[in-house]
Amino acid sequence: KSGFVTLVGRPNVGKSTLMNRLIGQKIAITSHRPQTTRNKIQTVYTCDRGQIVFVDTPGIHKAKNKLGEYMVNVAEKTLKEVDVVLWLVEPSDRVGAGDQHIANQLKNINTPVVLVINKIDMVKKDQVFGFIEAYRKLMDFADIVPVSALKGSNEAELIDVIFKYL
Ligand code: GDP
Ligand code: MG
Repeated sequence: KSGFVTLVGRPNVGKSTLMNRLIGQKIAITSHRPQTTRNKIQTVYTCDRGQIVFVDTPGIHKAKNKLGEYMVNVAEKTLKEVDVVLWLVEPSDRVGAGDQHIANQLKNINTPVVLVINKIDMVKKDQVFGFIEAYRKLMDFADIVPVSALKGSNEAELIDVIFKYL
């Protein structure tokens, strides 16, 4: 099996960190500053089951200027071209207008969307269920996977889920 996956989500949720973790090498640029990743960066994950091409995008957010507009367009075009969209969120976030904005865009595409709740190392285990319930109200997800990109929890399960849709 082989196919394309993209990571979307608000700046700083950990898209680059997750991709680096999955690939096992530092390829994308991570930073505490938003908008570090300005263009698509593609990396290939290879294992005995096949290949996953990860397309790292700047993330979907409301554009505030021309550069922001360009970045949003790159991200949106990618959504329709891939086999699976991983939507990364932070458990510390409250589900709000920013999340609704992303959900509205993801609803308009036919690509399966997997909700990835990142940074679970920052919260108690029993809180994760509440976050899942809150995000479920936004849209129908193909799957929901909690992970910690930084500590490396649950990435094997995430890879399994991705292969389901390739
Ligand atoms: P991006 O803007 O979505 O690409 O986010 P980055 O990958 O650049 O990460 C933004 C910040 O969040 C960095 O300081 C990361 O170290 C941090 N971060 C990413 N994943 C995790 C995680 O699983 N747990 C914690 N505690 N921090 C994380
Ligand atoms: Mg990034």
